[in-house]
Parts: sequence; structure tokens; C-alpha cells
Amino acid sequence: MLYHSTRGGREKLTAAAAIKTGIAPDGGLFVPEALPQTDNSYLATLTQLDYRQRAVSILEQFLADYSREEITACVDAAYGAAKFDHPAVAPVVTLDDSTHMLELWHGPTSAFKDMALQILPQLLTRALTKTGERAEIVILVATSGDTGKAALEGFRDVDRTRIVVFFPHEGVSEMQRLQMVTQEGGNVAVVAVRGNFDDTQAGVKRIFGDRSANEQFAAHGFKLSSANSINWGRLLPQIVYYFSAYADLLKMGSLSAGQLVNFVVPTGNFGNILAGYYAKLMGLPVNRLVCAANANNVLTDFLRTGVYDRRRCFHKTLSPSMDILVSSNLERLLYHVTGGDSAQVSAWMGQLNTNGVYRVEGEALAAIQETFWSDWADDRDTTAEIKAVYDRYRYLADPHTAVACRVLKSYRQATGDENAAVVVSTASPFKFNDSVLAALSGPEALAGKSAFAAARELSRLTGSPMPPSLAGLENKAVRHTDVCDPAGMKAMVERALLQE
Ligand SMILES: *Cc1c(COP(=O)(O)O)cnc(C)c1O
Repeated sequence: MLYHSTRGGREKLTAAAAIKTGIAPDGGLFVPEALPQTDNSYLATLTQLDYRQRAVSILEQFLADYSREEITACVDAAYGAAKFDHPAVAPVVTLDDSTHMLELWHGPTSAFKDMALQILPQLLTRALTKTGERAEIVILVATSGDTGKAALEGFRDVDRTRIVVFFPHEGVSEMQRLQMVTQEGGNVAVVAVRGNFDDTQAGVKRIFGDRSANEQFAAHGFKLSSANSINWGRLLPQIVYYFSAYADLLKMGSLSAGQLVNFVVPTGNFGNILAGYYAKLMGLPVNRLVCAANANNVLTDFLRTGVYDRRRCFHKTLSPSMDILVSSNLERLLYHVTGGDSAQVSAWMGQLNTNGVYRVEGEALAAIQETFWSDWADDRDTTAEIKAVYDRYRYLADPHTAVACRVLKSYRQATGDENAAVVVSTASPFKFNDSVLAALSGPEALAGKSAFAAARELSRLTGSPMPPSLAGLENKAVRHTDVCDPAGMKAMVERALLQE
């Protein structure tokens, strides 16, 4: 199985080379040249396997240049009991006959990014060996919260890698800040930037584009890389849990062989839901993929009209991991629905870049709308939904997951579709405990409470335990105290790499 760019560069790469390279040289994203096909008997065999075995079975169909032993070692290191606090890794919880939750937050950082960022470093270090790369890889991350911590946990003490994470000084929640500044590991650096997320991201982009800095790092044996969600090594592991959820529902008797199911996905960069689309293209019986957005509803507009227009206000919402106006992974969807028309994809991406807008029409739009449906929820509806889901099912949903629950309601009302639905639950409610507690008990319940006091109150009120990794933060030593201006970010990387 080889990979090529969505933009027409005809060079074909092995999986290892695609994972090491990240983004294609022509600016496009890597896609597999063909998709493996599955059928009902394959799905039946999955029911007999645990999550890790299911992962090996899916991954080996895409990673032709990795041996089964290598893939098994990657999967075991990523999804073992030392890392995930649930034996099922990605358990399915049933709310009622036709509504289920797929929980993707049982990993070390309590958010769905762990599903990919626990295994990416494993795939990447083996890719370095396979491609004869001599340099030590330096992962640079600008984070608005979840990705930075998940990348730190994934890369900590991984051979031949270093990781430097920058976060906006006042732009992350207190839990998220504590998760990062207490990070352990011999190859990690964490730096707060005096600025907002855009300043931080722009600073990281400047370092990537700074030729003399890159030459200086290369002279010391370092090569910069990113753990960004457009890397094929982040997307591929996400296909697994769609198959795993379906296998679990078959096993529980909630679905019969071949029965169609809908997935509802809280969406930002379009990575998670795109993995569901790949699963469907591979033969998983998926009817609709419902894209749930927040007030940054650029995807809802696009999926309804075909017009992608990022020229709009950016909203800070209660579901910050979905506060995104340019969803990079959409490019892969466009490639597939045009039957691999790279010239067309390049034209649309060029228009997005220069004008901030492009329009998809005709067959391509029809193909998109056959599978995708979308709506969005604002913060008021999200808060009301957290309470409604708790009152009705005694299920605690974080704000991102609540957006999806709300959109499922509107999907059912609008379409009358009675197929079973799986809501993809992307974060532990305790990671956003202030929003969740305020939704259940009113904003006054937060008055004078520290993040931990609020979390304890939420736990007491609902009888749900706080994930140990979050509870443990309260007594962890702060190990990273560096703060810099955006202009000083490069110096921070130099210090982390060159002066031990
Ligand atoms: C990243 C994230 C999302 C959005 O996922 P995409 O793959 O970017 O669409 C949703 N919820 C949570 C909690 C996240 O961390």
C-alpha cells in the first residue's frame, strides 16, 4: 500500500515515508492509493477480538511496510493498561435502544487526541529506522490546550525524539495548564508564550520556516517535525474505533449483521469524522456521518451549501477544541468525492488561501451530502444539553460531546432517521469540569472554587470518579516555568536542544 498527495504530486511513498514526512512537498495531504475492503464476515471476526487486536487487524491493512510484530508492538505500547484506564480502551456505553456513546477519553490526558497521539510516536520512530533517517526528531507544537498535553504524553521518553510545546500564557484552562507544566519526561520542554493562540501558532510556523535555524539544528543532528492532525499517522489510528464500536454493538446484540448505523461527531479539524468516512468507504455499514459544530459553524454551512467561507468572526466557546475556522482534513474528503481530481482540489485550496472562500457544486457536493449532515449548537444550547442528558440518562457529557448530543436531536427531528446512532464522546467531563458543574448546578456553584474543588464537587454531586491523572495533578510538582514573548520562541527551542 503506497500513499500520494491530494494535490497531484505523482510521487508514491511508503506508509513510513508518508508518516515521517507529514505534509506532502506540494502542500497536499497524503492519501492511500486504494482502500482495503471489509465485509460482514470480517466484522463478525472483529467481535471476537479485543481493542488492541482489532487495531492490529485494521492497521496492518494500511501499513504494508511494517511487520505484524512491529504493529503489535506499537499497539501494545499505545493502548496498554499502563496508558488507558478502561480495559475496552474505547468503550461503548448505551443510553437507550438506539443511542450509544463511544468514549474516546480513557487515555492519559482524558481527551480523544490520545487515541492517535499515543500511537503516532511508535509509528514514527519505526518510520525513522525504516527510512534510514539519522537525525533526532524534534516535535514542535503550538497548542490551545488538548493537543499539547496529548503530544507530550505520547512522546515523553520516546527514543530519538524531543518535544517542545508552546501554549498561550492566559489562553488555556487551569487544568490544561497544570497538565502541561507538571509534565515529566527527559525529552520534553514546555513554554508559556505571552500572547494568544494565534501568536503562539505563528511563532511555531516562523521557526519551521526559518532556514538558518533549521540548518543550525541539522548541524547538531536535529530535524524539526510536527505532530499535527494532518499526518496520516494520526488519522489512521482513528479508523480503528469506528470498526471497534460497530463490533461492540454487534456483540451486545444492539445491531444485527449489516445493519446501518449513524455516527455523530463533535468536529473541529475534521480529522475524527474523516476517519469515520474512511471506515464507511472500507465497507463499514454507516448510513450518515453527522458533523456537529459549535458557533464556529463554517463546516455546517459548507456541508449544507457547498460554500466554504472562512471570512467570519472567530468565537471562543465552551467547546474550545472545536474553535477552528480552517479544517485542514477536509482536503482529503474533497479528493475522494471528486474521484481523485487533484487539479480541482488544488484550485479550491488555492481559492481558500487567496480569497478565504471556495464553492463545491454538482456531483461532488451531492456525494458529500449523501453521507454528511450537519448542524451546530451555541453555548446556551450546549449547557442546556449537558443538563438534559444528565437528567434523562444520568450520563455526564463534556461540552464537546454535548454539542454532538444536541445535534443528534436536531438530526432526528429533521430527517426522521431511526437508525441507531453512536455519539462520539471526545473528552472526559472532568477536563471541562467548570462548564459541566455550572450546567448542572448553575454558575453560582463555581464561586470561589479552585479547579480541583469544582471537580470534587462535580464528582460528589454525580457519583462519578474523577480520572486519576487529573486528580493527581493537584499534588504534582511544577517542572516547567519558562515564559517568553512570541519573538523569543526560537531562543527557547535553541536552549532546549543545544544547551543541556
Ligand atoms: C480535537 C477535539 C475535537 C475535534 O476533533 P477534530 O478531529 O479536530 O475534528 C473534538 N473534541 C475534543 C475534546 C477534541 O480534543
